[in-house]
Amino acid sequence: NLTQRLSRVVKTMRGEARLTESNTQDMLREVRMALLEADVALPVVRDFVARVKEKALGQEVAGSLNPGQALVGVVHKELTSLMGADLGDGASELSLATQPPAVVLMAGLQGAGKTTTTGKLAKWLAEGNHTHHGRKSGKKKVLVVSADVYRPAAIEQLRTVAEQAKVDFLPSDASQKPQDIAAAALDHARRHHYDVLMVDTAGRLGIDEAMMQEIRSLHDLLKPIETLFVVDAMQGQDAVNVAKAFGEALPLTGVVLTKLDGDSRGGAALSVRHVTGKPLKFVGVSEKLDGLEPFHPERMAQRVLGMGDIVSLVEQAQKNIDIAEAQKLATRIKSGNKFDLNDFRDQLQQVKKMGDMGSLLEKLPAQFAQAAGQLQGGQAEKQLRRTEGILNSMTPAERAKPELLKASRKRRIAAGSGVPVQEVNRMLSQFEQMQGMMKQMKKGGMAKMMRAMGG
Ligand code: GDP
Ligand code: MG
Repeated sequence: NLTQRLSRVVKTMRGEARLTESNTQDMLREVRMALLEADVALPVVRDFVARVKEKALGQEVAGSLNPGQALVGVVHKELTSLMGADLGDGASELSLATQPPAVVLMAGLQGAGKTTTTGKLAKWLAEGNHTHHGRKSGKKKVLVVSADVYRPAAIEQLRTVAEQAKVDFLPSDASQKPQDIAAAALDHARRHHYDVLMVDTAGRLGIDEAMMQEIRSLHDLLKPIETLFVVDAMQGQDAVNVAKAFGEALPLTGVVLTKLDGDSRGGAALSVRHVTGKPLKFVGVSEKLDGLEPFHPERMAQRVLGMGDIVSLVEQAQKNIDIAEAQKLATRIKSGNKFDLNDFRDQLQQVKKMGDMGSLLEKLPAQFAQAAGQLQGGQAEKQLRRTEGILNSMTPAERAKPELLKASRKRRIAAGSGVPVQEVNRMLSQFEQMQGMMKQMKKGGMAKMMRAMGG
């Protein structure tokens, strides 16, 4: 798993402040291996690694991250963005915005899961799980039909699936031409006011020109609003060629990746996306009809790289630390400016943003935790708020020049923040301690401390 691989490499490169050609080389090799192991096609891996490298080089290792985590952050972000926008649960996964019936054409190799997915989508639409702009769009009246006249059992299979999905099934006959079946179905759906017509098609075991021509002619005739390419996640590397052929033959509108419940790492998702440029819309996660989920690029990126923990760690750090702020502060300290109570307040705000204080405090160097107000366990957040209250009751000038704080001002601040004067004094002496620490740290600078905080 990539997390373990990278942490091995990362051990050799602690304390470096930016991503460079040399310190990323080993890690990029691991990323490349991880992608290949996940069955991402080689040309796609090459492109991807080059992209990550370009994005990563020269990047400052921010805040609490070490270079390894920073690189994983870049990898994860790139992978997620390559996989496409997160359609999420509130987005419109299928476009049905057309004069009804909205036709959905299913394309893909034999065994990819077209018939099963037809049933899943039909059920999902009929039950009203389809959302449009975040709102449930209501139950659809769905008709399914099979234009697969080559496999004897194919039409019966769709009949069974339609029964399970509780949607209408239009019988077709293996002696008919697929185009005639499609034309009749379209006519039937129009006359009986169906919202959606789903057309299941034949697939061959491999790509062949006759099949491509047939599905192209079905496309011309049906003018579907959605043309979905169904592909088996277990196909791995081969998915690239298949996707390419279908993408060239048809104006696809989306991809459904099936059999993700298997042990495939899902590398096909990246390959197919890369080759077709079309959004992955759904994933199949079981052979049952409820085994359909909207596609989430983020989750897929994590699956492909096998890197759950480290990603959440990186995300937490990136979300919470205002990197720019931290760096500004670091520069100030380095440039010999003194660390005043305004800085202290900024710093506390950063700490507060990090959320879960308990676990964060364990990572703080003991001195800093002490100076920040003897923050301990469950008391931490309360104490933090009190300290912040005291700081907020000061004027900016007072925060910039704590030596202004004589007895009368302290009384005013204590009253303003609702604490005893002793607490103001305690806070100030802790701050002085911290200031001393900051002076010592000038060489290593803030970045070092922030990194220590990240563990
Ligand atoms: P088609 O030839 O493209 O129509 O493929 P089918 O829909 O007949 O599916 C082929 C096989 O894959 C069947 O045994 C399905 O039950 C199975 N299948 C389809 N989708 C999934 C899925 O998401 N997960 C699992 N485990 N099996 C699936
Ligand atoms: Mg089928």
